[in-house]
Amino acid sequence: TNTPTIALRDGHAIPQLGLGVWRTPEDAAASVVRTAIEAGYRHVDTAAIYGNEEGVGEGIRASGIARGDIYLTTKLWNDQQGYDSTLRAFDESLKRLGTDYVDLYLIHWPAPQRGLYVDTWKAFLRLKEEGRARSVGVSNFYPEHIEMIEAETGEAPVINQIELHPDFQQKTARAFHDRLRIATESWSPLGQGKLLDNPTVAAIARKHGRTPAQAIIRWHIDNGLVVIPKSVTPARIVENFKVFDFTLDAEDLAALDKLDNPGARIGPDPKTADF
Ligand code: NAD
Repeated sequence: TNTPTIALRDGHAIPQLGLGVWRTPEDAAASVVRTAIEAGYRHVDTAAIYGNEEGVGEGIRASGIARGDIYLTTKLWNDQQGYDSTLRAFDESLKRLGTDYVDLYLIHWPAPQRGLYVDTWKAFLRLKEEGRARSVGVSNFYPEHIEMIEAETGEAPVINQIELHPDFQQKTARAFHDRLRIATESWSPLGQGKLLDNPTVAAIARKHGRTPAQAIIRWHIDNGLVVIPKSVTPARIVENFKVFDFTLDAEDLAALDKLDNPGARIGPDPKTADF
């Protein structure tokens, strides 16, 4: 099966479903990634700070699927922001991953108190120019941060990866992204697991003969989002990919829409997160 893709403004396309590997230990990453690729995944989301880039690269090579058929994302950690340090950090990520390009490189957080995300973005544009990062984007950016880099460089990101799950839907950010043709990618798409026993989710899953995780992943797909659920359990990795043979109906989508609650953020607020 081919994963459906979302067309990015720069001409590339990103598979809509990928494997997230936050909190996947380095020594488990290779086998987790290989399991996922064997189950049909063609997209892996890692980051320098996850400490597992070597395992991710090893898993891709062990899968037997050509590098060119895998969509690989990594992210620049906050303490490497700045023009020269970004270029160095990128080289180090490539070396750990054992590849000569990534499909997508993201600024992990704006970290506005550091005052470096514009210089960092300039380095990202150079990496894009060199073709070593096929696409460049951001993560955890508010519209004001995106407006700033656009004003300073004339280039907006093609994607913003933000916390997004059925009880934290980010409608303001999504409307802003849509106006600028920026794709939205959902992190912690299952609410880190806390949504799996939500009664609304459970009822919709039962109705379709699916698991709660599958119903939630399908909600992201049906909303045009890129979604990167994480699991290290082979059976769950397989389960989370089996979402392309059903869809949610208007009634399901309306019921899930009502779960939206601006207070349901799990992670730090990017405006004030100081790391
Ligand atoms: P998630 O919402 O994907 O939830 C993962 C947890 O849900 C698992 O640890 C497991 O406990 C449970 N789970 C997964 N599949 C299941 C299933 N089928 N049945 C039962 N339980 C299941 O949480 P996440 O890991 O925080 O987010 C996913 C990915 O998003 C990360 O791995 C990472 O790649 C990315 N992320 C990015 C940022 C960022 O700042 N850019 C922040 C957090 C996460």
